[in-house]
Amino acid sequence: MTPPAAPGLRLVLASANPDKAAEIAAILSAVPGLELAARPDDVADVEETGETLEENARLKARALCAATGTAAVADDTGLEVEALGGAPGVRSARFAGEHATYAENVGRLLGELDRAGALAPDARRARFRSVAFVAWPDGSELWAEGAVDGTITAEARGSQGFGYDPVFAPDGCGGRTFAEMTAVEKHAVSHRGRAFRALADRLSAPGGGR
Ligand code: IMP
Repeated sequence: MTPPAAPGLRLVLASANPDKAAEIAAILSAVPGLELAARPDDVADVEETGETLEENARLKARALCAATGTAAVADDTGLEVEALGGAPGVRSARFAGEHATYAENVGRLLGELDRAGALAPDARRARFRSVAFVAWPDGSELWAEGAVDGTITAEARGSQGFGYDPVFAPDGCGGRTFAEMTAVEKHAVSHRGRAFRALADRLSAPGGGR
């Protein structure tokens, strides 16, 4: 019998977002011997002050690791739009202001693209990028990245998912937005699906990737 690659590895999840948590739990369930714990309610929110997705993912994983004394896993995601020079990128959650709603962020994105004159689909190219990051109490770290290319649609379509899903149509999916797909369809091609599957592969490797 092959021993589990990550024997007794317990990871606290830094994200409290239920959409993300369910998705991450499903992907990491493929790692033998790994136990995923929910983010404790009493841990304060972590300020995302990094300049890159990697820095923010590291900040969140390190903060949860320090607060719990347990290895922690975090992710950070950004939507990079070509016609906007890569914006909103690391500022995706705050694009329309500090406490902006998903709808306000989507509204600002569509408005900026109209102002930039980016009306044709090929002028609205975009990429979702995610970094999945694990931090251990002894200072070890492991991370993986995932990305998906697509187009920002002219208007919001669909009711599934969250965030920018109603205006992002990934390549190779018949022009449907993420919000017009089931969760399973989305995560087969999504940035976060790819990042966490790559992370799961590394955690499953002999030595658990460390
Ligand atoms: P976070 O910092 O990883 O939570 O992500 C930043 C922002 O990107 C979120 O507030 C969402 O607006 C957006 N976002 C993250 N992941 C997704 C996704 O899978 N679909 C659509 N929008 C997303």
